[in-house]
This record gives sequence, structure tokens and C-alpha cells, in this order.
Amino acid sequence: MSESIKYVLGEDRIPKSWYNLMADLPEPPPPPLNPATNKPISPDDLAALFPPALIKQEVSTERKIEIPEPVRQIYRQWRPTPLFRARRLEQALDTPARIYYKYEGASPPGSHKPNTAVAQAFYNKEAGIKRIATETGAGQWGSALSFAGAFLGMEIQVFMVRVSYNQKPYRRAMMETYGAKCLPSPSDQTESGRAILAKRPDHPGSLGIAISEAVEVAAKNSDTNYALGSVLNHVLIHQSVIGLEAMEQMEMAGDYPDVVIGCAGGGSNFAGIAFPFLGAQLRGGKKVRIVAVEPIACPTMTRGKYAYDYGDTAHLTPLLKMHTLGSAFTPPGFHAGGLRYHGMGPLVSLTHKLGLIEAAAYEQTACFAAGVLFARAEGVVPAPETNHAIKAAVDEALRCKEEGVSRVILFNFSGHGHFDMQAYTDYFSGKLVDQHYEESELAMALAGLPSVNEV
Ligand SMILES: *Cc1c(COP(=O)(O)O)cnc(C)c1O
Repeated sequence: MSESIKYVLGEDRIPKSWYNLMADLPEPPPPPLNPATNKPISPDDLAALFPPALIKQEVSTERKIEIPEPVRQIYRQWRPTPLFRARRLEQALDTPARIYYKYEGASPPGSHKPNTAVAQAFYNKEAGIKRIATETGAGQWGSALSFAGAFLGMEIQVFMVRVSYNQKPYRRAMMETYGAKCLPSPSDQTESGRAILAKRPDHPGSLGIAISEAVEVAAKNSDTNYALGSVLNHVLIHQSVIGLEAMEQMEMAGDYPDVVIGCAGGGSNFAGIAFPFLGAQLRGGKKVRIVAVEPIACPTMTRGKYAYDYGDTAHLTPLLKMHTLGSAFTPPGFHAGGLRYHGMGPLVSLTHKLGLIEAAAYEQTACFAAGVLFARAEGVVPAPETNHAIKAAVDEALRCKEEGVSRVILFNFSGHGHFDMQAYTDYFSGKLVDQHYEESELAMALAGLPSVNEV
């Protein structure tokens, strides 16, 4: 058996700038709209929530955006992350494919999310903001922002989706260890939370509701801003360090991917690994197949609609043109909490609409089976979200075997699963069930799309 190979870059190879796909797209994305007027929002509309630097990045069409030196200094804690050639997995699958993965589980909180959390905390601090309010689903984003808050001396308030708050006490403990305040959402601390609790006191919560609560706190307090861990352009820009480093590491390995794969909740780690390769392709480079993988129980790209929708349940956010299941969507309580959002990042949605990327959806039990296979071959226990990317990579490798061809597969390993062992316990005891989103429910949530789509 030959062992897997690790490709490591020195600290001096941490990218000096992020990559922005906007510069290379054949057409610009439709603008975010003000929900009150249905007119494109102005940067001023966002000023109550975000610092000027991030608003500028949100609308930027510059290809390269410089990474501030203090952010690069913090990145040095865990970046560049290693790229592995998963030889042991290849042998377990007996495939002629060459499988590579970029290991974003190397960050202190355990996922790709600190790549943007550190940048967002930095720009907020620079703008004189004292506190950041945010939401978290599975707890990965809350942990990442809490970590960034500890490093940059910012107060962090996290609204955590109630089912996850109850299912994952250790994520909450981690946020508190970093000094953050964590509340179950819906909470009684905000108008939007109280309105939901009045209708249903045992509401399990959703990312959409938690976003409403955090946005409300930020809008009402001048010393507080809001931060989102995915979806928005500036978040996708910050995650480009993943793909930029991977391009160099693939070069070290003497390979170039035929297929690039990422799991997609709001699309940030997927865009992080894929957009630098897509940009190179759009500038005349080699064509790559790019696959975004989502759960069958939250099929935003594979069954949702490409339409303007709200980012949250209380309809406080601008309207974004994206693949959506409707902001009223409450997904079933499956285990990949980070993939339970009703929408998809506008840039990821646009690349899908333009046919530049593909989307695939898998059942959670099949994803866990792939995750277990991966752990036994490569040694790392993946997050349930990451299992979706692994499942797609394994299927592609098995297709190579059937076809008797060798393709180069690169996927992003978005995070480790050390806080998700209950999900593995449930999987091993046969308690994980595959849930489907009924057509009638889907139609109902989509019927609530804002009327701007009808003109
Ligand atoms: C949050 C998270 C995801 C999903 O978020 P994206 O913005 O779609 O990347 C995937 N994997 C892990 C480990 C996460 O924490």
C-alpha cells in the first residue's frame, strides 16, 4: 500500500490578494434589491449592517483584492492548509482516478469559515465597531467568528438555531470559551424572535430566523454590525484563498484537476475551491468540470427556483437573485446543519444558471457511508457537510473505474467532524433516516416569493 501524499506550502505562499470572480464573469449578477422599493440597493442601505470595506468588496469588479497584512498574520496560524493526494482512498476504491483534497479542517475552529471570519472582524474593528451579531446553524460559523473575535478583541453575539443549540452543546461551549455570547434562536431578545415564539413556543429555529434576529440587533445598535458566514460576494471572495493555494499545490503535484467538487450550503467553501479554477478557465485556461453538492433534503440548486428572494424569514434583508426554496422553508432536522439554508449565494447561483457549474444532490446516509470510508482510509473524520463532497468525489472515482479512465479529482475538505460525533453515533445505530422535501411543501414555500419576480 502506498501512503497518501501531503503537499505543503511555506507561510510566504499565503496569497497576498483574494480572487474575485466578478472580474471574469461573462455577465454581471442581477443587483440586490431594496425590499421596500424593489429598486437596486445603494451602498448606503447596507451601512447600518456592514463596514465600508466589506460593502466595497460586495460590489467590487476588481479581479484582485489585497489581503490586509494583519489578516495574513492571523492566517499564518493555520494557512496555507495542506493539500493531500488521497492515495489510501484511491486504493480502497481500486480506482485509476487521482483524488486530491484541500484540508480546511486545519483551522483552530475546524473548518474553512475562519478565512472570512478573521477578515470580517478585522474590517469591522477598523471601522470602530465594538460588537458583531450573527447567526449560526451547526455552530461552525459561530465558532469561527468567536475565534476571530478573540483574536481581534471584538464582542461576538451568536444566535444559534435552537435544534443545533440543543443537539450540539460542545459547539456552544467552544464559542463561550472564545468569549462569545450564544443564544438559542428563536429567542425572546428580538422582535422577530418573539413573533415566532408567540406562534410556536417550541419552534426548532432555522437559519432564516436566526439571521433576522442578528440583523435586527445590528440595525438597532450603532456600535453593532452584522456578519454573514456564507452567501454574500465578500464572503466568497475571502474563501478564494482555498482555491488559490490549491492551484499552487496542484502544480507542485504536477497535476491539474478535471473535476473540482465542493459541498454547498450558501456556497462559500465551494466557491473558495472552485472560483479560482473557473476564473482561469474563463480567461482561456483549461476547462474543468465543477460540481456543487447539496443534500437531497435541502435541494436549493437541484429543485429550487432562480428568483429574487429574501435572505431571512422576517424579510429584513435585501432581495437577492439566487436559487431558493423560499424564505419560509424550514428544512427537516437532518445532520448537515451547515447545508440547511433556503438560498444559495448569488454568484454560485449565476454560474449554475450560465451552465458553468453543475449541481448534484445526495441522501445523508449515502454521504455518511462515504465519510466513514474516507475516515478509515485517510484518518480524518469529516464534518457531515463535508461528507457530501466526499460522496460526489467517491462516485466520480468509481465512474473512472467503470470507464477505465484516470481523471484528476479535487475536492474541498471543508471541515472535520469532531463536534458531530452524535451524528455518527446515530448513523451507526441506524437512526439516521433520509428525508425528502415534499413537492407540496416546496410549492408552498415558493409561493411566498416576493412579487418582484412577476414583473
Ligand atoms: C458551514 C459549512 C459548510 C457550508 O457552508 P458553505 O458556505 O456552503 O461553504 C460546509 N462545510 C462545513 C464544514 C461548514 O462548516
